Amino acid sequence: MPTEIVAAEGGGSPCEARCANEAKINHECGLFGIWGHEEAAQLSYYGLHSLQHRGQDGAGMVVKNGDVLTRTKGPGLLTEVYNSKMLAEMKGTAAIAHVLYATGGMKSSTAIQPLLFHFEQSSSLAICHNGALVNSKSLRNKLEEYGSIFQTTCSSELLAHIIKRSRLVTFVDSLKRALSQIYGGFAFLLMTKNALYAARDPRGLRPLVLGKRGDAYVVASETCALDTVGATYIRDVAPGELIIIDDNGIKSEFYTSDKGMALCGMEFIYIARPDSNIEGVNVHTSRKNAGIVLAKESPTAGAEVVIASPDTGISAAIGYAEAAGIPYEIGLIKNRYIGRTFIAPSQNLRKRGVKMKHSVVRSIVEGKSVILVDDSIVRGTTMRHLVKLLKDTGAREVHLKIASPLYKYPCYYGIDTPSPKELVAHKRSAREISKLMDADSISFISESGLADAIGITHNNTHGLCMACFNGDYPTHLQDFAGIELK
Ligand code: AMP
Ligand code: SF4
Repeated sequence: MPTEIVAAEGGGSPCEARCANEAKINHECGLFGIWGHEEAAQLSYYGLHSLQHRGQDGAGMVVKNGDVLTRTKGPGLLTEVYNSKMLAEMKGTAAIAHVLYATGGMKSSTAIQPLLFHFEQSSSLAICHNGALVNSKSLRNKLEEYGSIFQTTCSSELLAHIIKRSRLVTFVDSLKRALSQIYGGFAFLLMTKNALYAARDPRGLRPLVLGKRGDAYVVASETCALDTVGATYIRDVAPGELIIIDDNGIKSEFYTSDKGMALCGMEFIYIARPDSNIEGVNVHTSRKNAGIVLAKESPTAGAEVVIASPDTGISAAIGYAEAAGIPYEIGLIKNRYIGRTFIAPSQNLRKRGVKMKHSVVRSIVEGKSVILVDDSIVRGTTMRHLVKLLKDTGAREVHLKIASPLYKYPCYYGIDTPSPKELVAHKRSAREISKLMDADSISFISESGLADAIGITHNNTHGLCMACFNGDYPTHLQDFAGIELK
């Protein structure tokens, strides 16, 4: 049985989760929370299921039954952690839940959230988050100076310590003060026996939405989770906002006045599910628009067929084909039973994973000038392999169209990025990348073209974050200041 159950009452054992060093390791992850429903655990399971694309390395839930908070968790996919018998036994009217994206070197079995803390008078606090802080190292050092001892290196534990140190009278004031001391890209869910709390970072880098199902309130990383549990979308949580949900309803407060919108561009490009909407923009539509813009920015004379790198290039490929007037075809098939190669912990395993992952529809590409569309190039492993596969199968020419700008700089806000020297676009021109991929040409969408496709202007205080493309980070980078990025 992979699942650990920790009862919160009666001085149960303290949180044993160990997250990886947040200064080095980022989490994409998915969050789901519900307050005021008899089947809180079961709905959280379905909600998490629709967020599985955000993390496949572990899943966990804290369920509130009366005054008792109970945690279950385990490594792997949600279906490997929970079964129907377990779910039927998980009684409670509120829950917060998490799917984990673990990166190389991180032992997923010890990194699974939510964390569960026990304070005096049997009070308990559950916390989970998505994202990464840029000042976690500085805060930890300071707290350790003051005498804190950490069990983990996870931002959720850091937040718990800061809350606990606060001398303010109410929990909400302590939480607001704590949130105003952390910087970066994050969405936090917290739960006590009295309330569920949902907070979003002051730049809105990481997504978080609010919905309602009957009398129950639901919060989730993406709207697809609301749809799955039959909840109606109310609105996105605002940058810098703390939402408090309890038996009396919902309250909204802001923990900072220094707020502005810098939505993560990569959520639109790659991370979020196509059926989700972020700040009212449908993810599939933004990707399709990016394909349309690419076709206008970078036409290729004589191309005969447009194919997608499955599955994340499909929306943009459809848009490209439509705008260029070239047929869209299924030229590459993806083996659905292999996990995302990007997640493999070493480059060797990643290469093997990529090889098993795709096959070509020969009749579609043989002898043709092919346009291959993908959402992004990170290390270049996928594209190099696909170009070889297409050429080995007889494609005459392969022209690459990438629906994001050149990915040159690391993300410090929770999106897994390799070190700059592993990024194929770091210090390389498009022409050099094309040569490296053995492609006949390569084109990347422009930053302004991408902003147009999404329909949100980007100037880093109101609009989109595109720091991994242009190095303009929308927050200061406290722990990373002085690191050479360019
Ligand atoms: P690579 O083979 O390293 O160039 O990876 C590129 C592929 O990884 C693209 O096809 C994307 O769909 C996907 N991708 C882009 N960003 C990420 C990310 N942060 N995590 C996982 N996969 C990603
Ligand atoms: Fe998203 Fe890139 Fe900004 Fe990170 S740096 S939040 S991946 S747009």
